[in-house]
Amino acid sequence: MLLKHTTAEIKERKALTVNPAKTCQPIGAMYAALGIHGCLPHSHGSQGCYAYHRSALTRHYKEPVIAATSAFTEGASVFGGQANLLQAINNIFTVYQPEIIAVHTTCLSETIGDDIPQIINKAKADGKIPEDRYVIHANTPSYVGSHVTGFANMTKAMVDYFAEADDSGRKEKTVNIIPGWVEPSDMAEIKRIAAEMKVRTIMFPDTENVLNGPMTGRYRMYPDGGTTVAQLRAAGSSMGTLALGRLASGPAARALDVKCKVPCEILNLPIGLHDTDTFVDILRRIAGVNVPDSLTIERGQLVDIITDMHQYFHGKRVGLVGDPDQLLSLTRFLVSIDMCPAYIITGTPAGKKYEKALREATAEVPFEVQIKVPGDMYLFHQWIKQEKVDLIIGNTYAKYIAKDEDIPFVRYGFPIFDRVGHSYFPTVGYRGGMRLLEKILDAILDRKDRDADDITTELVM
Ligand code: SF4
Repeated sequence: MLLKHTTAEIKERKALTVNPAKTCQPIGAMYAALGIHGCLPHSHGSQGCYAYHRSALTRHYKEPVIAATSAFTEGASVFGGQANLLQAINNIFTVYQPEIIAVHTTCLSETIGDDIPQIINKAKADGKIPEDRYVIHANTPSYVGSHVTGFANMTKAMVDYFAEADDSGRKEKTVNIIPGWVEPSDMAEIKRIAAEMKVRTIMFPDTENVLNGPMTGRYRMYPDGGTTVAQLRAAGSSMGTLALGRLASGPAARALDVKCKVPCEILNLPIGLHDTDTFVDILRRIAGVNVPDSLTIERGQLVDIITDMHQYFHGKRVGLVGDPDQLLSLTRFLVSIDMCPAYIITGTPAGKKYEKALREATAEVPFEVQIKVPGDMYLFHQWIKQEKVDLIIGNTYAKYIAKDEDIPFVRYGFPIFDRVGHSYFPTVGYRGGMRLLEKILDAILDRKDRDADDITTELVM
């Protein structure tokens, strides 16, 4: 029993989180920054934070994640980190030659109150930033929000620093897509769907070919992928923006609307049949195109698979833990195939509106669904101890609960430290929906096989 101290009895806790269902803001900022071409993320704080953030991303994506740090010591902690950051900017452009440095703060530099825009201006004035090179920043204090907030803040910084409206007010026939914190393969899949529809898109951030690139035998610090500065600028002249996931993508989309008058639609992540339908439909309407037969066929395949698998899914109780944008779409998908989300927890403070959306999504579940926003995995475990579920879907940390309670488990979301391959296969779109269903059904039927004796083991299930 790895979590033997978890009790079934629930006592009210107000100021204590046990086994949080989130991680810290800079990790999200670092991931978003890696989605800019030629960008070196920079952690303005101590080396411990930076090492943790890099290692979390490296362990999930199984790629060497690059970043730099202001390497605070006692002096910077007392007098502020300006000198460290100025020296870091100089060293980084001299030695590592990125096109952009994306600075994010940490708890320590936020508590000190370092004024990052002022430091960047000083670096410019001191000639530490070469021509055609850029330093951008996002404030990412980790004592508020979560890694999702950090991702949203850095994505918004891309708009604040780069997006430009055409002086004449002319709009290009491009659609911006802000994909949210999804896998590089998901970003590729979203772009593939748009390309099938012959829609020109600018995706930002875009980690395809950054964190799921091919093994060539040669290390490249700045891989081919990532949104270019030219694309970020041009995003201000697009005819519309689709923001996928309100928490991760909403702030950047709204900022672009305010700054450059690019109208935005904030949608759920295109996970599952209905939310993919909505994404395709709104993309079709904004771009004024038709949905090609190829996508209609993919949709039909997903419907076919749902029909074939439905008998195994019906009525199954599921516990869900993860990030808010993913959880909402996943919940809607599970309910649409007659599964019953029983417990839902995210560690990200997503607000009352979000909780209401989850309650609406689970309105048809024939029992009271336990939802906690924000909540922790200790409570999630306590709920499971009170009444079991048939399946848990969550990140790697949920495996301890699944193991202790002997419940089938599907790894989904961030982080996944103990499996490989997830960053190469999408779970968004119709094809992603098929893959997700296959994973869920495998987990359920593998358990059935495991528990069957010689007499009840079936060849055909
Ligand atoms: S929570 Fe704050 S102090 Fe801890 S690793 Fe994250 S940024 Fe650093």
